[in-house]
Amino acid sequence: MANYPSWIEEKDEVLWLTEDDREHLQISYRLKKVIFSEQSPIQHVMIVESDDFGRMLVLDGVVQTTAMDGYIYNEMITHVPLQLHPNPKNVLIIGGGDCGAAREATKYPSLTQIDMVEIDELVVKACKEHLQEVSGNLHDPRVNFIFTDGLAFVQEKEDAYDVIIVDSSDPVGPAEALFEYDFYQNLHKALKKDGILVCQSQSPIFQQAIVKQTRTHFEKLFTDTKTYTAIVPTYPGGMWSFTIGTKGNPIEPGRVHFKNVDTNYFNQGVFESCFTLPEFLNKLVPNHSHES
Ligand code: SAM
Repeated sequence: MANYPSWIEEKDEVLWLTEDDREHLQISYRLKKVIFSEQSPIQHVMIVESDDFGRMLVLDGVVQTTAMDGYIYNEMITHVPLQLHPNPKNVLIIGGGDCGAAREATKYPSLTQIDMVEIDELVVKACKEHLQEVSGNLHDPRVNFIFTDGLAFVQEKEDAYDVIIVDSSDPVGPAEALFEYDFYQNLHKALKKDGILVCQSQSPIFQQAIVKQTRTHFEKLFTDTKTYTAIVPTYPGGMWSFTIGTKGNPIEPGRVHFKNVDTNYFNQGVFESCFTLPEFLNKLVPNHSHES
């Protein structure tokens, strides 16, 4: 067997990838083959072909996105804020190396500038070449690829963006500081007066402390803040959360003019219902309604 990292093992001539980044839960994927495997200065980057989820991006042994369900996550983190903003022109994406979120953003003709600040150039290279089901080999001239740490990039920005999307990996390694209050404070400063910030806020099943902490940080900064969810089968527990904050208008999906976009998960019904939380989450992070 080729010299693969510890999370790849061969059993009875079959390759398996096992995510073991949680103490009491291991998830194993049967693989057809390993397509790309390389250590970057930041992390280990892999593209594998799995039996059930198709091609997958794996960073330091953790599955980030897959050909089977990556569109669900990328549509929900991108279309919700871009629909809520009345007339978005320039967008900042922090992370998002699989290019899925940027690809969804290019579906809005009103956008003139999409800055994608990704710390690891190798992730973008690998996804453009080997994971086109997600990246679409993105080459839209409005997308500026900036390979640097998002933390440092936003420190210099003020009143610059209509919408900011934090599509980060889990809060470990390079992404740990992307879940801290100081970072959100700088993002708030980088937004224009009616700007909107959204970030992925981990599993509402296994990581409720992070869902709650993110909400608390946002509520100190934004005029209106809500949590919404989506079903992403690849992610532990199958349910994922997003936290959104607005500097201007309250978050009222039922009141905005819906912009038609070509999607496979997101639609007007999902847009209006994704803020309706199951009771255990409503108790943790209640979404207060402004809609009378
Ligand atoms: N949807 C996936 C998830 O929820 O786990 C994440 C997708 S995307 C691949 C995450 C990206 O964030 C990775 O490409 C990673 O390199 C990037 N990233 C991590 N820390 C970063 C930082 N400090 N600045 C910019 N990008 C960062």
